[in-house]
Amino acid sequence: MNQTKYIFVTGGVTSSLGKGIIAASLAKLLQGRGYRTTIQKFDPYLNVDPGTLNPYEHGECYVTDDGAETDLDLGHYERFLNVPTSQANNVTTGRIYLSVIEKERRGEFLGKTVQVVPHITNEIKERMQLLGKSGDFDIVITEIGGTVGDIESLPYIESVRQLVWDLGENNAIVIHLTLIPYLAAAGELKTKPTQHSVKTLMESGIKADILVCRTEHQISQEIRNKLALFCNVKKEAVIQSIDASTIYEVPNLMLEEGLDVVALKKLDLPKKAAPDLKNWNTFLRRLKNPKHTINIGLIGKYVEMQDCYKSILEAFIHAGAANETKVNVISIHSEYIDLENIKEKLKDLDGILVAPGFGERGIEGKIEAIHYARENKVPFLGICLGMQMATIEYSRNVLGYADANSTEMNPDTTNPVVNLMEDQKTVTDKGGTMRLGAWKCEIKPDTLAYRIYGKTTISERHRHRYEFNSHYLAELEKAGLKASGVNPETGLVEIVELEDHPFYIGVQYHPEYKSTVENPHPLFVNFVAAVVKAKKK
Ligand code: GLN
Repeated sequence: MNQTKYIFVTGGVTSSLGKGIIAASLAKLLQGRGYRTTIQKFDPYLNVDPGTLNPYEHGECYVTDDGAETDLDLGHYERFLNVPTSQANNVTTGRIYLSVIEKERRGEFLGKTVQVVPHITNEIKERMQLLGKSGDFDIVITEIGGTVGDIESLPYIESVRQLVWDLGENNAIVIHLTLIPYLAAAGELKTKPTQHSVKTLMESGIKADILVCRTEHQISQEIRNKLALFCNVKKEAVIQSIDASTIYEVPNLMLEEGLDVVALKKLDLPKKAAPDLKNWNTFLRRLKNPKHTINIGLIGKYVEMQDCYKSILEAFIHAGAANETKVNVISIHSEYIDLENIKEKLKDLDGILVAPGFGERGIEGKIEAIHYARENKVPFLGICLGMQMATIEYSRNVLGYADANSTEMNPDTTNPVVNLMEDQKTVTDKGGTMRLGAWKCEIKPDTLAYRIYGKTTISERHRHRYEFNSHYLAELEKAGLKASGVNPETGLVEIVELEDHPFYIGVQYHPEYKSTVENPHPLFVNFVAAVVKAKKK
């Protein structure tokens, strides 16, 4: 195929309709039919990337192999497609403006007035075609963040209009995701908000080709006809997206509704064979028919908001299905754990995960939870900050260094068992300057880590500034906390573990970012298996 085809996904009526899931589900079907498909997201905020955002603002920050700090929707793209994304898959308005302003300073527009149209829109159009021009993809799906009608989205919407015009209607189409609310008092589904949202899109010169309608109730043929007529789309292009019990159900629901077939027809592409969803459906069957149930405590400080630990929750879904186990993840706020209530709070847990994080808040609760898991032989997994806290717990309670700490939490500690990495000491900018992305790790034989991975060299994704202080390595190892994985170039400790325990491991990296439906992460798979085993005993 020489002409890359483009599908744009916009949203109307309200935010949080799940554009990312619809984009990922459509991509899954197109991939299943043999089209090389990728998804990118354009976000309308001014941060250059979401790395500087508090998770409460925008959910988890997802990290790619090449070290981009991105929107959490990229996690969905990878989990559905099983293909890595990169820096190019997530662009924000901040990034666009930064690059236009840098060009202006270099004199690239010398003599010209630099304006939103055409300079910002040209930059957006260029970025929208970057992956398409790489030759690696037949179809590029672009999700436009925000809701149509927002002031912030306007340059994106104008760029989409121009691109559809530039590329021609058979090469670029627009899918509009909207909500059909149900009024319980009237017992009716309402189409008016959708009609208005489509009209708003038309005011910007864009005609939606396909409507995907989120709904809590089946949409009758009569309502579909009405939507088609008033929103100016073909009847077959009105797609129902009914609430599903799991997001992993959505590709099948979209297949039943024919979303992929309508999109291919509009793009003038052959249907090819029916999508191959064999592995996908095996996963779904296992997910829905668990033989065991376990409770895993997620000890963190952003537990009020589901999206803050998105990739961890999804990794447990993948690992649960792999073990035919229903994993109930019980979120526990580390700030409210203390010595008095810890038994009460953790007693029903079959496994404990201590989450990543930044800053001092809730730290002591995390350390206490690890202490509890270690002494009571509860399977334990520590991720990033969780691994650092495990090191502190061991130093305090086994080595006897009562003030052991990370210099992130206490710069004056006399036992900095976790400290700032050498190359971070000169860093002053906060954005994009952590140790990010994929790094190699060498695993020692005869360790839990080796049994989990089954190989000696792995690559995992990182996002941190602090590290295990190797000055304490010999002492900690002698006392039983083994460094089973080390970065081959820098010697940085990446994995710590305990032998005399059913399952106790802390990792400096983020395994959750690499877990997909088709490749559930071995660390999560083995953790769940260990919890099931320990529970049986
Ligand atoms: N705050 C710690 C660091 O910067 C851990 C980061 C994390 O958990 N992602 O090293």
